[in-house]
Amino acid sequence: MAAKIEVTDLTREPQVARATSPAAARCDLSDVSADRAPATLACPSCGDENPVQAVFCANPACHKALGEFRYVREELLEQTRWHETLAERATSFIGKPHFVVAHVLLFAAWVGVNTGLVALVRAFDVYPFGLLGILLAVEAIFITGFLLISQNRQNVHADKRAELDYEVNVRTYREIHEIKAMLQATLNGRN
Ligand SMILES: [Zn+2]
Repeated sequence: MAAKIEVTDLTREPQVARATSPAAARCDLSDVSADRAPATLACPSCGDENPVQAVFCANPACHKALGEFRYVREELLEQTRWHETLAERATSFIGKPHFVVAHVLLFAAWVGVNTGLVALVRAFDVYPFGLLGILLAVEAIFITGFLLISQNRQNVHADKRAELDYEVNVRTYREIHEIKAMLQATLNGRN
């Protein structure tokens, strides 16, 4: 009995193969491209026309991903408050070698003046340089604050990006399910 079913299934296969012959497939594809696919892709941000296969906008000033995505960076820039901008600028300076060089020069000048090695100015903070210690402690507090603000902002940025990735994944998942259902319906119709 089981063997019989297999035989009938096998006899069906060539019919399916004939129905999806390359000629038929080509015909379907040309219909789709003529009806639905646009010749160019308009950038949702700057409005420039791009080739259909393009992923990013060809306009160098824009260079956004082409599609119905939210622009996370722009969204965050709009929400940025003054202290966040200040923290970003401060941390970007702290992360440069200039910051270290400036401190080395400051320490050298401070020690030079207050130990009498450089006699341009009268010593104002003799050894063990208590004033320098206080100033550095205050600076450390500000740097910590700036770094934490900047880190919070980066976390928000990462969260938004993850959210966007998730959104794209869900959309892709749904599209694939739709395509699968359509394919199944087509196969059922032909059987
Ligand atoms: Zn653009």
